[in-house]
Amino acid sequence: MNPENLPAMIDLLIHPEWIIPIEPRGVTLSGHALAVNDGVIVDLLPFDEASKRYSPKEKISLPGQVILPGLINLHTHAALSLLRGYADDSPLNTWLTQHIWPAEARHASPDFVHTGTLLACAEMLAGGITTFSDMYFFPAAAAKAIDQSGMRAALGLVVMDQPTNYATDADDYLAKGLALRDAQKDHPRLSFCLAPHAPYTVTDKTFEKIATLSAQLDIPVHTHLHETRHEIEEAIKQHGVRPLQRLDNLGLLGPQLIAVHAVHLNAADMDRLSHTGCHVALCPSSNLKLGSGLPPIAELQRHNIRCGLGTDSAASNNRLDLFQEMRLAALLAKGMSEDAASFPAHHALQAATLNAACALGLDHRIGSLVPGKAADLCAVSLNDWQLQPCFDPASHLVYAASRENVTHTWVAGILQMHQGKPKNIELPLLIKQTRIWQSRINS
Ligand SMILES: [Zn+2]
Repeated sequence: MNPENLPAMIDLLIHPEWIIPIEPRGVTLSGHALAVNDGVIVDLLPFDEASKRYSPKEKISLPGQVILPGLINLHTHAALSLLRGYADDSPLNTWLTQHIWPAEARHASPDFVHTGTLLACAEMLAGGITTFSDMYFFPAAAAKAIDQSGMRAALGLVVMDQPTNYATDADDYLAKGLALRDAQKDHPRLSFCLAPHAPYTVTDKTFEKIATLSAQLDIPVHTHLHETRHEIEEAIKQHGVRPLQRLDNLGLLGPQLIAVHAVHLNAADMDRLSHTGCHVALCPSSNLKLGSGLPPIAELQRHNIRCGLGTDSAASNNRLDLFQEMRLAALLAKGMSEDAASFPAHHALQAATLNAACALGLDHRIGSLVPGKAADLCAVSLNDWQLQPCFDPASHLVYAASRENVTHTWVAGILQMHQGKPKNIELPLLIKQTRIWQSRINS
């Protein structure tokens, strides 16, 4: 018998009710199956054909469920999950200078970052998130937690010009960050970004160094930008120009830049972002909660500026929940533009997956269900009575379902979360460690 006619051995065949591959956009497949081998998607095909063509070691049937790419959180500070709800109802400047920075000065340490990041990983995996873009101190401790969790992450190598528990000056931050990148650059689930904190904490000289390093190393730059009106007013007083123009003058704008927030943009800012091909990480819940303003999502779309979605940290959100961000982003886009056609469900899904992968330079590996990409997936059950009837699964994912409906999360073909329980994180121990930190922070 010709071996070519024998079914190919593969690790896993998943047969859900629907598959939303993200590429091509706007498509929802039914009666299809996803074939996975060695952590990689090998095929996406009609189920009848799949059962003839493949002999899987494991077969999972998911009636009433939808499979989509694992969600990508384009901006967070994972370790700050330990400060969830610690300081609410303050504007950004007060929140940072009077609450968060003093708490960090007392507590930020490798142990704090390890426990906080593990807590964030557990929450994100439970909500269908497989990759996150992080920005925090002691990234080596975060890397250890990420490695344990089985998640994928783009670690932001944070840089500021002010001393913290982590580093003394910009050169020290950079040296520590780059040493970690050298040590971990072959890790299969870690990638790196340079992460200057914000225009108000980083000098021109440091920004110039970062622009050079980003070009030399070919890695993205991830920074907070145009978050509040106050930030822009202060920048004009100090530098004579708006932060975006300052960064443009310093050579930072381009497709390698992930501008986090981009809430306050005038027409020139919008053109600048568009012409230079910058990416934007929208964090609408954090912007609303800190009273920073409303991100102009429909306008950004109109200018073809590629937007991903971020949760920001649990200290300013207070959830690491991309289902909530997708819904909020879609509602804000429609409400602010007075156009219900703005930011439809498939755009929101693309923002939470493929757009974020592009921003991180990882779209050749993740962000859509295309053969050859990693099998980073989540399964969402639309069987609950609260979700009946279901005319369009994409609409349900954005407007009706929530992270509680996520049942499975796979990273590189490995099931890392099932029914709310992460595979590699012992939740009772994590809760115990979190409560120890709560008492320390309260004392
Ligand atoms: Zn942030």
